Amino acid sequence: MNRVFNFSAGPSMLPVPVLEKAASELLCYGESGMSVMEMSHRSPDYEAIINDAERMLRELMQIPDNYKVLFLQGGASTQFAAVPMNLIARTGKADYVVSGQFSGKAFKEAQKMGYDVQCVATSKEDNFDHIPAFTRDMIRKDAAYVHVCFNNTIYGTKYPEIPDTGDIPLVADMSSCILSEPVDVSRFGVIYAGAQKNVAPAGVTIVIVREDLLEYADPKMPTMLEWKIMAENGSMYNTPPTYTIYIAKLVFEHLLATGGLAAKKAYNEKKAALLYDYLDSQDYYIAPVKKESRSLMNVTFVTGDADLDKKFASEAAQAGLKNLKGHRSVGGMRASIYNAMPMEGVEKLVAFMKEFAANHPKA
Ligand SMILES: *Cc1c(COP(=O)(O)O)cnc(C)c1O
Repeated sequence: MNRVFNFSAGPSMLPVPVLEKAASELLCYGESGMSVMEMSHRSPDYEAIINDAERMLRELMQIPDNYKVLFLQGGASTQFAAVPMNLIARTGKADYVVSGQFSGKAFKEAQKMGYDVQCVATSKEDNFDHIPAFTRDMIRKDAAYVHVCFNNTIYGTKYPEIPDTGDIPLVADMSSCILSEPVDVSRFGVIYAGAQKNVAPAGVTIVIVREDLLEYADPKMPTMLEWKIMAENGSMYNTPPTYTIYIAKLVFEHLLATGGLAAKKAYNEKKAALLYDYLDSQDYYIAPVKKESRSLMNVTFVTGDADLDKKFASEAAQAGLKNLKGHRSVGGMRASIYNAMPMEGVEKLVAFMKEFAANHPKA
């Protein structure tokens, strides 16, 4: 069977050379005589893998030395709880920007634990069709941190630039945009991301945290969620998700070998432009997101007719363009065009969109 173009929001496509390399090493990794899956996480072979993964991620993202890199479990959703538990003791309160479902969940999780958190800006009234503007003076001066979701996977919006929070640490959920372009890590206190969109299969969560922020953990918090303990133990306080980290390492290696994040950004911009330029050139499909907030990774559009939308997703799937149905909460279509989606996939999608519009004229 041929591989399809998989536009899933996550888990999502992985680079073919990475899958091929993993296949070639599946039974025997190097001289070890065993699969990475079967290896002790304390073995020298595995230590080299996790150390390489960290070193390559640092090189790719130019992570400054005063930041720790952690490979954790539980997905980005677990970090919704871990963030306040690790940081709020700095001042006792924190501020959130709610720009979509995941940032809403992060805010609610902190509220649920009884912390003093407030939402300083939201675009909820506009169905999250843009990133809400917020300025430094809207944030409480003594907030322990400000939490944002940098790319809103469901709505297809992204911060056009890094918000200025002054001295207040900025915490960003980058699950659906990490490694899609260079970012200035030094502008953030914490960056976290579930792996299954742009990094690896599901199962590992990357946390990049500035060292001075490791001192504020709630003493009653679960050990497994405490960044400082994970940092002191090289992400191996317990058994880490060994195989997923190995695939992440292969992805980092592949990115480094193909020009790093600057090259990736240029390629991703070309891919996204192909879709957005087409969307802007016609009126059969509507792109609901405000132009200045458009995501590079998740492109949403609708026909304006729910039945046509349904037909679109199913006919596209038959044409080898899979998983274009929008999130169940918003409907319409969503093309997730992460790093591993080739230009050819987007070209085929645009050709299909034209064909579909011609074949299904609106009443
Ligand atoms: C997918 C996603 C999540 C949820 O990730 P899990 O790893 O499934 O918990 C959180 N935030 C963003 C921005 C996402 O795209």
